[in-house]
This record gives sequence, C-alpha cells and structure tokens, in this order.
Amino acid sequence: MTYRAPVTDIAFALKHSAGFGSALAEGLYGDLDEDVVDAVLAEAGRFASDIIAPLNTVGDRQGARFKDGIVTTPDGWRQAYRDWAAAGWNGLSAPTEWGGQGLPHAINSACNEMWNSASLAFGIGVILTMGAVEALMAHGSERLKKIYVPKLVSGEWTGTMQLTEPQAGSDVGALRTKAERAGDGTYRLTGQKIFITYGEHDLTDNIIHFVLARLPDAPAGTRGLSLFLVPKFLPNADGSPGARNDVRAHSIEHKLGIHASPTCTMVYGDQGGAIGYLIGEENRGMACMFTMMNQARLAVALQGVAIAERSTQQALAYARDRKQGRAAGAKEVSSAIIAHPDVRRMLLSMRSQTRAARAICYATAVAIDRAHRSADEHDRQAAQERASLLTPVAKAYATDVGVEVSSLGIQVHGGMGYIEETGAAQHYRDARITAIYEGTNGIQAIDLVTRKLPLAQGATAKGHVAELRRTVERVRAANNPAFGATGARLGEAVDSLERTTSWLLGRSLDDASLAGATPYLRLFATATGGALLAEEALAAARVGSEPEGRIAIARFFAEHLAPTSSGLEREVIEGAESVSDLALA
Ligand SMILES: Cc1cc2nc3c(=O)[nH]c(=O)nc-3n(C[C@H](O)[C@H](O)[C@H](O)COP(=O)(O)OP(=O)(O)OC[C@H]3O[C@@H](n4cnc5c(N)ncnc54)[C@H](O)[C@@H]3O)c2cc1C
Repeated sequence: MTYRAPVTDIAFALKHSAGFGSALAEGLYGDLDEDVVDAVLAEAGRFASDIIAPLNTVGDRQGARFKDGIVTTPDGWRQAYRDWAAAGWNGLSAPTEWGGQGLPHAINSACNEMWNSASLAFGIGVILTMGAVEALMAHGSERLKKIYVPKLVSGEWTGTMQLTEPQAGSDVGALRTKAERAGDGTYRLTGQKIFITYGEHDLTDNIIHFVLARLPDAPAGTRGLSLFLVPKFLPNADGSPGARNDVRAHSIEHKLGIHASPTCTMVYGDQGGAIGYLIGEENRGMACMFTMMNQARLAVALQGVAIAERSTQQALAYARDRKQGRAAGAKEVSSAIIAHPDVRRMLLSMRSQTRAARAICYATAVAIDRAHRSADEHDRQAAQERASLLTPVAKAYATDVGVEVSSLGIQVHGGMGYIEETGAAQHYRDARITAIYEGTNGIQAIDLVTRKLPLAQGATAKGHVAELRRTVERVRAANNPAFGATGARLGEAVDSLERTTSWLLGRSLDDASLAGATPYLRLFATATGGALLAEEALAAARVGSEPEGRIAIARFFAEHLAPTSSGLEREVIEGAESVSDLALA
C-alpha cells in the first residue's frame, strides 16, 4: 500500500498543540495567513504521495549503485529530485533574499515529514542540504554565501555533512582529516571520511561538502576542529561547475535500509589536497557544525514520525482487510483482525505514539521560529532555550517511536509483515538508522541530562514541567467523561517527571545520572507527548474537529503509555547501581 499524506492531522497538530496557531494569530509570521499554510501543506502532500512515494520500493530494491567513482541513483530518482527542486520545495524556509520562500521553519518541518514518509532515502539527502544552507548563512563569508547559497537554496547543488571517520564517530574530537593553510586564504584537505550520506550521486551537477578537519597547530579534541566548504567541482566565474577538486568517493556501503541513499567513503587529497574554504573561524568549526546538526537533528526526528505514520497507515489498511478468527460477539465466521482487541491495542499504540512524536517535533520547530522571529529579546532567548531543551528529546523519542511503530507494523501483518512484498519490512529496515545517525539516541539522552537540563540553572526544564501541569489542570477542569482517566494518569506522569528532574538537577554529573539518561529522556517525552495530545483533544472538543477520535487517542496514550512513567522514574533514581560491570564479566 502506498502513502497518503495526512494533511489534516498535520495541520491540526501544528495549529493546536505545537503553538503554531497562536504564533500565527499574534503576528509572529507577519502577514502569513492560514489559507496559504493549508495550501502549501496540501500541495506538499500531493507531491509526496503522488511523485515520491511510488519510488520508495524501486529505491529499496535497486538501491544506489557504484562504479568507477560514480554513483547512480535508482530509476526515476533524478527526475523526481529535479521536479521537487524546481517546484521550490528545497528553499521553502530559506530567506527570500537568497531565493527562498521565507516560510516558517514549522511549515518546512511539516513538509519534511511528508517527504520522508514518502521515502526516507529521498528525504535524508535534502535534509542535509537544508542544514548546509543554515550553517553557511550563519557563519559563511559574504563571498562564499554569494557563490553557494543561491544554488543550495534552489537545490541546483546539494550539500553534505562530513564528520565521521573510522576512529571518530560519537567522539568527533578524535577526527584526523588534515587541513593546511595554502597561503592564499584557501586550505588543502587530506584524509578520509566514512559513512557520508549522498557524498556522491547523479542528482545534481555539483556537490558541496561541509567538512570538519584539523589544522596542524590546532589544539586536541573538539576545540581544534575547523569547518571547510569543499566543492566537488570548483565553480567558474559565471557560477558553472569548473575544474574537478581533489575529492572522490571511494566506495558505498551495503546496508540494512535506506538503500537508495548512497553512504560513501570519501577520500581527500590523492593529488596533494582538496581545495577548501574556511567557514567561520579557525578552530571554531564545532560551533558552525552545531548550526547544521541542530537543524538536521530535528529533521531526523521527523524521519521517525514519518516512518511511524507510513507504517501505521499500512497496518491499519491491512487490519481492516485481513480476516482471521471470530471476534467476541461477532456474527460472521471470520472477522477482520481489527475487530480483535489486541490488534486494536497495537494500532492505537502506533497511532498515539506517532502523533505524540509529531507534536513534540512541531513544538520544537515553532520554538525555533520564535527564537528567530520574535520582536522581544526575552521571548527570543526563552524560545531558544526551549528549542535546545526539546531538540534531543524530539530526536531520540521520535526515532525510537519510528523503530517501535514500524516493528509493530510488522506484527499487525503477522507472517506477511516479515515477507518483503508487503513493504512493512522495508519501513522497519529503513527506520533503524534514524536512532543512530545525527548523534545516537544514547548521546541525545546524555546531551539532555548534561547540557540541556542545566540551561538557565534548571529554569527552562522546570518551566516546561509547569506548562505540562497546566495542561493537566485544563483536562481536569474540562470534566469531560470521554477523557476517562487522562487527567489522573497524565498528572502522575508529570509528577514523576518533576521528581526525576529535581533529582538530576540536584546532583553533579556522575555515573548515576549518565546511567539514567535514556530512561529520563523517555519519561520526559512520555509526559510531554501525553500533554500535547491532551491539548489536541481539548482543542478538538472546542472547535469540533473529530473530537471523539482525538480524545480517544489522548486517552489511550494517557491510560496505556503514560503509566510507564513511574517505572522510568524508578529506573532513573534507583537503578543506577545495577548498571555495573559485574553482570557483564
Ligand atoms: C547510513 C549512515 C549514514 C550516515 N551519514 C553520515 C553523514 O552524512 N555524515 C557523517 O559525518 N556521519 C554519518 N554517519 C555516521 C553516524 O553519524 C555515526 O555512525 C554515529 O554518529 C555513531 O558513531 P559510530 O558509528 O562511530 O558509533 P560509536 O560512536 O562507536 O558508538 C557505538 C555505541 O556506543 C555508544 N557511545 C559512544 N560514545 C559514548 C559515550 N561517550 N557515552 C555513552 N555511550 C556512548 C553509542 O551511543 C553507540 O550505542 C552515518 C552512518 C550511517 C550508518
């Protein structure tokens, strides 16, 4: 079964739980109105469903192919990419002065979800180009921006992000690729990068690499890294691709999923050194790379939502069609499997977690918009801190949800899910990488506990907990029997989050806080996702948009998933001691 973009759900989540509706009403986005937003989402949904989604299977079966340094993408991909770029989707949220459309980051995030539901292997390439544009605009010289930004915004050229080397994965500071000053303001790069997404391909006439490397006199670790722009072809004066630079793809990987996305080993300096241009300042490369990585982390989070949505659609369709056994009280001999409560439990778990992850991602995107656009400095600062706090939560939770939901998608299909022809297995294989790249989910949890909780001396996290509590109060005040135990169970989840947050803030960084980082992140996401779903349900009851369905989803999440919070609290606070080496001896 192919994908239909859930444009109504996406618009509803944006407007009613992520804060986009109120931002629009208060004028954060100037004269942008709801009709334009709806029209953009509808058109993106059409393109994703009709043009990209049909390529997902051929992308998986044919994969990217490598021969003599050249990568060929699967049949139909080059045309689809070119049509997509020509329609202006690449520059949706880029500034108008650089050829973009200046639309909110939140709208671009919603579109990113749709490109990735259609095909994760397609979506990951464009995510990186968008991140490259952000980094270049924030840190590049005027000269570099003039040459490269317009072509990256239009999608005429693509960007890559290059950190990883064999000895330097999570530990980026261990990288060894060398950059030497050429004496004319440029640099020469030598070394090797591995696992580089779309490092080589045939979609565009040029590829612009964003490469972390180390100068000979640089300090050790991440403080000694600089970021360089290294074009595959050096542009001529008229902007056309000119001489070939000294960088090439050596090979591509054979991997579990996203087969159509080429994962390349890149070699720099076979002929003396690839010409590179410094972005930002020498030894300040990590700060520039973080601009790119933060953007990419939210986009990868949306990949998690995207694959969960697609898996859920497919499982739901199958469960309505497949007949097995007689459901309790049914008249027919054989019932559709959706009539069995255990199958409905799986489907509800899929849908509610997908929507919870979506709401967290969109709330993060709106916070990023506010941090860039608000006229009030205090508001900008608070929004920046909220975005920083939510980004690792969005990345790790949404991608874990992508993996778990696509696994449940197979389960709903039974044996047919394990057979490749239904496509459910591809979603599971494709989803798995999202929990690993852009910083593994373990590293996200450590980031949350060690860097994000202490923001503003803990005030950002405490303010977030207080906001969740206000949602719980609103649910209780609504006094609507359809909500069942939503208020009570969410209230308990927020209590657990509050106690655990205080416990972590009250201790200095040690093995116990690191051992509890992953369960803490899950607890944080569970309380937050549950509250955002409750906000959607309250809004649905107010505006009359499918109130029964949205209340039922919020209620399911609160009654079936939020209760895990008390276990997660215990795991964080009491479980550290048993995370020891002894049991692994
Ligand atoms: C398909 C694919 C595409 C990719 N695309 C790109 C790309 O475009 N550009 C790029 O630069 N890289 C890319 N990567 C690399 C990716 O970002 C890394 O694989 C990832 O960051 C993890 O690094 P690693 O593989 O070296 O694992 P390791 O760092 O060796 O980690 C192994 C395990 O140890 C854990 N761990 C490591 N350090 C710590 C610590 N300090 N505390 C707690 N736990 C720790 C990790 O969480 C993980 O579970 C890609 C990888 C793949 C497979």
